[in-house]
This record gives sequence, C-alpha cells and structure tokens, in this order.
Amino acid sequence: MECNTDTKICSRCKKKKKKSDFSYGNCRCKGCLNEIAKKKYRDKNEVSFKEQTIIGCTKRCGRCEKYKKFEDFCKGRCREGLQSYCKSCFKDYEKEWQEKFKRRGEWQKRK
Ligand SMILES: [Zn+2]
Ligand SMILES: [Zn+2]
Repeated sequence: MECNTDTKICSRCKKKKKKSDFSYGNCRCKGCLNEIAKKKYRDKNEVSFKEQTIIGCTKRCGRCEKYKKFEDFCKGRCREGLQSYCKSCFKDYEKEWQEKFKRRGEWQKRK
C-alpha cells in the first residue's frame, strides 16, 4: 500500500514520477512535454522544408493550381510581386471577361 502522495503517474509514459516532475495541473511529466514540444517543432520544420522544396522558386497558380516558375507569372501586387494567376491562365481570364462584356454589350443592343 503506497501512501506517498508526492508521486504521480504520467499519462504518456505511464511512469511513476515525482510531482515536481509535472507542471501544475498537467497529467504528463515534464520530460514527455519536452518530447512533445520537440516533435511538434520538428514536424513543423519538416513541413516548411517540404513546402520550400516543392515551391523553390515556383509559385502555385490560383487558377490551374499548378506550380509554375516565377517567369510564368506577370508582375502584380501579390506577395511575391507577381499575379496570382500564371500567364496562360491570366490570358484565359482576360478572354473570359472580354467575352462576358461583349455578351453583355450584345444583350444590351438587342434590348
Ligand atoms: Zn512521462
Ligand atoms: Zn495557371
């Protein structure tokens, strides 16, 4: 029968540890919390590293959702100083708008 109330079982490593090894009100020991924090940090870094290697000096087009080189984008007011659509999508986009306006013009004429 244990009557030592100075120990607590960690909910992560299931080891009996001194209460001083826990931050107040935490069910996981400091060692485990440290590991969790390290893992989170590592995961975050890995993700950003992956993103960097995918993106590199490419940018994802907001229309065709493909990764394209910077030179495939026109200059704009976006984050990288580039348009959010690639050149070919931007052409399509402009055409669409022109057609919309044309159609509207024709429709107005008919009226
Ligand atoms: Zn633990
Ligand atoms: Zn595109």
